[in-house]
Amino acid sequence: MDRKDKYIRNFDLAFSGLSEGGHFFEYWVDDKFFEYFSFDGTTGGDVNIDVHLIKRSTFIQLDLNIKGKVKSTCDRCLGSLDVRIESNEEMFIKFGEYQDDDDNIIWVDQDEDHINLVDLIYELIHVVMPLRKTHDEGQCNPDYILTEPKEEEGRGEIDPRWEKLKELKKKQKN
Ligand SMILES: [Zn+2]
Repeated sequence: MDRKDKYIRNFDLAFSGLSEGGHFFEYWVDDKFFEYFSFDGTTGGDVNIDVHLIKRSTFIQLDLNIKGKVKSTCDRCLGSLDVRIESNEEMFIKFGEYQDDDDNIIWVDQDEDHINLVDLIYELIHVVMPLRKTHDEGQCNPDYILTEPKEEEGRGEIDPRWEKLKELKKKQKN
């Protein structure tokens, strides 16, 4: 088993031995997660996932609360930036043949005793990340922000010199 597989095992959720009713589970996502599963422009993070599992006789309900910060890059000055994220999601685990096309239902085999949450956690973080990530007004690095063209005034075209600068900055970082 390689390091990545081992890491993914941390997100296993075993439900077969649980009694009916509510149970709590807690998962953590750290820099490694973002190393193994790439997000656009994201360099790391620290996210807590609380799972309230409610076992019923024929299905399992999962109430997930995702909360934390993701390390990213500011779209305005290219400086590092912590993006705070939080979301709640309700999912259901159902058993047997796949039946309907509901994104909130995870279908598993009748005799399955666990699921792995890594794909789900990836999706939930991905969905809640803002498209445009910038520092608060006045918090950007002024050396870089001054060269950015005002998109609203132009026709939405990006100044090629600005693109070059971005590339340069990216290269310096690597
Ligand atoms: Zn900035």
